[in-house]
Amino acid sequence: MSRLQSVRGMHDVLPDEAQIRRRIEQVWIDAACGFGYEEIRFPLVESTALFQRSIGETTDIVEKEMYTFEDRNGESLSLRPEGTAGCVRAAIQHGLIPNRQQRLWYLGSFFRHERPQKGRLRQFDQFGVETFGMCGPDIDAEILLLGQQGWQRLGLSPRLVLNTLGNPDERAVWRGQLVDYFSKFESQLEDDDRRRLKTNPLRLLDSKSKSIQDLLEEAPRLEDLLGEESRAHFEGLREILDAHGIDYTLNPRLVRGLDYYDFTVFEWVEESLGAQSALGGGGRYDRLVEQLGGRATPAAGFALGLERIRECLEAEATAAVDAYLVALGEGETARMRALAMQLRQEIPGLRIRMNMEGGSMKSQMRRADKSGAQAVLIMGAEELGQQSVILKFLRESEEQQTVLLDNIAAILAEHFAPTG
Ligand code: AMP
Repeated sequence: MSRLQSVRGMHDVLPDEAQIRRRIEQVWIDAACGFGYEEIRFPLVESTALFQRSIGETTDIVEKEMYTFEDRNGESLSLRPEGTAGCVRAAIQHGLIPNRQQRLWYLGSFFRHERPQKGRLRQFDQFGVETFGMCGPDIDAEILLLGQQGWQRLGLSPRLVLNTLGNPDERAVWRGQLVDYFSKFESQLEDDDRRRLKTNPLRLLDSKSKSIQDLLEEAPRLEDLLGEESRAHFEGLREILDAHGIDYTLNPRLVRGLDYYDFTVFEWVEESLGAQSALGGGGRYDRLVEQLGGRATPAAGFALGLERIRECLEAEATAAVDAYLVALGEGETARMRALAMQLRQEIPGLRIRMNMEGGSMKSQMRRADKSGAQAVLIMGAEELGQQSVILKFLRESEEQQTVLLDNIAAILAEHFAPTG
């Protein structure tokens, strides 16, 4: 029988790596909580129509990358390729939006059927925030400041790339101008770009093809079409970022791959990652709530790719165990199990691993060493009789000592600062 393997582009995260990923997640959760954001969880599977109506039928994600299948009753369902659509759907469904301001965060897995390569997986994890009911540039600035705090805590400094897409009317005029402009060069375009010209001309700005890149030099610019309101919004945002000393690069070609953005869009980019260099991105999506059946509500958010963030860090896993408990007989084992329960209760955060399946002193000590524990507590018949244990610090030259059971908690508590 052939060996079963994980699905291409969907990776296992083994314990050492999981520990590092959990640390990254905790940084983002703490950052969001520090700004008063609340967690929301929504399903991995939604009706396909949700993504078609929000992300856009002619985007790469919906056209080519969704895991879509028929449920047993014939309904078309899809694995979520991103978080905003599901979050908005949930917020509308449960009445979280009307007459209220909401600040939410989420964390979880997303699925896109892309060609697997470095930085592109078919199952990947994102951390994201979504805000509802606030239309000013100050909330755009707030989510960028939240991001800044997360990057700082991780010791990273990706470049912030910023753009404004104006309002839908301004964009419609620009879109028309782009179509007129590129139509003049249609014969020079590659098939994919010709198709984009018909279906989603803004996506031409993302195109990697050299001919488009060259043509863009002279292409009509949205900047020249922006009205007073759009300009004021963008300037307001930039003022706050400047006041906080946050650096950014303006890139008028940043459009992002989803249809629902208005005004501010941004990405955090780490060039050292190579081709897939965006760690995350987001922007305003003021029409989406209404488009999905809710009352018109301004909104803004971002999503970050946790695998790509991990790639930027040199983090290594640390030991999973502080103290390993060795016992040399049945009575000793029972007593040690009780001691372990007492210590876990009394010293939250202390990580205690109990030896299993007996074994000689030597083999138990070998397991203790392998566990990475710093301390070993050993109980033989003599210690059991005296209600004591031998305490040995494996990675220090200190002599072992015999400690009364009554005193062991205090010694361990002092030695191991809570790891939280
Ligand atoms: P997007 O909303 O598509 O810009 O995604 C936000 C972030 O999620 C990206 O900047 C990446 O860090 C991450 N991401 C998106 N798609 C993938 C993928 N297929 N594999 C790994 N990470 C991804």
